[in-house]
Amino acid sequence: MKTITEDTIRCTGCRACEKACTRGAISMTKNAEGFLYPQIDETNCIDCGICKRICPAEKIVELKTPQKTYAAIHKDKEILKDSSSGGVFTALAEMVFEQGGVVVGCILDKDFYAKQVIVSRSEDLAACRGSKYVQSDTKDTYPQVKKLLDDGILVLYTGTPCQIAGLKNYLGRPYDHLLTADFICHGVPSPQLFIQNILWLEKRNGNQIVNYRFRNKVGSYQFGLYYYYYFVRSTDVVGGSAVLDPYYFSFLNAKTYRECCYQCPYAQEKRCSDFTFADYWSVEKFHPELDSDMGASILFMNTEKSLQYQKNIEQNMALFPSKLEWMKQVNENLNQPAKRPDSRNRIYQTIQEMGYETWANQYCSTLLWKLRNLYGKFPLGFRIRIKMIRKKWAKE
Ligand SMILES: Cc1cc2nc3c(=O)[nH]c(=O)nc-3n(C[C@H](O)[C@H](O)[C@H](O)COP(=O)(O)OP(=O)(O)OC[C@H]3O[C@@H](n4cnc5c(N)ncnc54)[C@H](O)[C@@H]3O)c2cc1C
Repeated sequence: MKTITEDTIRCTGCRACEKACTRGAISMTKNAEGFLYPQIDETNCIDCGICKRICPAEKIVELKTPQKTYAAIHKDKEILKDSSSGGVFTALAEMVFEQGGVVVGCILDKDFYAKQVIVSRSEDLAACRGSKYVQSDTKDTYPQVKKLLDDGILVLYTGTPCQIAGLKNYLGRPYDHLLTADFICHGVPSPQLFIQNILWLEKRNGNQIVNYRFRNKVGSYQFGLYYYYYFVRSTDVVGGSAVLDPYYFSFLNAKTYRECCYQCPYAQEKRCSDFTFADYWSVEKFHPELDSDMGASILFMNTEKSLQYQKNIEQNMALFPSKLEWMKQVNENLNQPAKRPDSRNRIYQTIQEMGYETWANQYCSTLLWKLRNLYGKFPLGFRIRIKMIRKKWAKE
């Protein structure tokens, strides 16, 4: 069977090939793990080679060394609270709206499927805010963005570096009025796995989940009570630490990523976008002068174009010059891709064989899980104090 990448494992599922094929000979189909891969209809394929030429796994886009590196904190406390880290995404999006542009971001739809959408109003940003730790589907955004750019409209495309690379290769030429922003990414699990987790949580809680957030600033950013998930069923908000959630725990331990993530050519300090943003973990260690209790982002300005927007960004964001070496100390994916654990060989197959529910219930039956669950029931103030003491010990 014909393939686009020489080594299928490197395919990122970005859809650039599907959208660029003039014969409509490529369609995306789910593999057994639930990741999308292109399939070529050989009766329609004329071997023109466009798909291979634009594949971001085959053709790595130009990478740039960051020109300016900042710790960044949104000035609006409500936006900061609603964002995963320092609110860079919202600041960039607001700037683009002010100039009459549109923004591409990721939402979870009503079926908990992560997908890229185009938005043009501030009130639509809330759904895009927040990290969704699952692979998002670019859907039709590449051709839609091309049309907008050809009509002269300013576009900001935000996403994983491989999504940005796919877009750039699909467009095939630079546009002055295209801005791109990637985040430092450790990898993406399968959408099918995430939806299975939602169904399992619904069954476990005996009620429908209507909202799921991967990050919640309950407690405080500094004290590490930050990876919280919560979901709303009827009127309740249910929260818990990520280590109590089998999907989330496997994600944090790099067990469930798409195969290409473990050899991602974009996991390094040189970047494929105008801007790069990420969590600025341990910012308090490098910038004790900052009030970072509600989170801080890393912000890179990588291109001449991005530097032109600095003044506009500063209207909504406080920017503090910071050092790339510090950021590389706390963000491993600025140095290399995530390491593939041996358990990646079996995890999806095990889940398929035993069923998600049995697998997840097994995870929740360990003594460690039960102890963590018990600890989670202690008052938040008490847990924060314990964290502070542990942090102090670690420093001494
Ligand atoms: C899968 C994934 C892996 C990540 N890995 C790291 C990491 O290793 N190190 C690190 O420092 N930061 C990582 N991040 C980024 C981090 O979680 C925050 O998203 C980032 O700090 C932005 O925070 P913010 O406050 O500026 O914006 P927020 O308001 O939180 O904005 C989130 C932005 O991320 C986009 N987004 C959310 N989910 C997805 C998705 N699944 N696919 C594409 N775009 C998405 C939104 O469209 C928006 O642009 C990762 C994010 C994701 C989604």
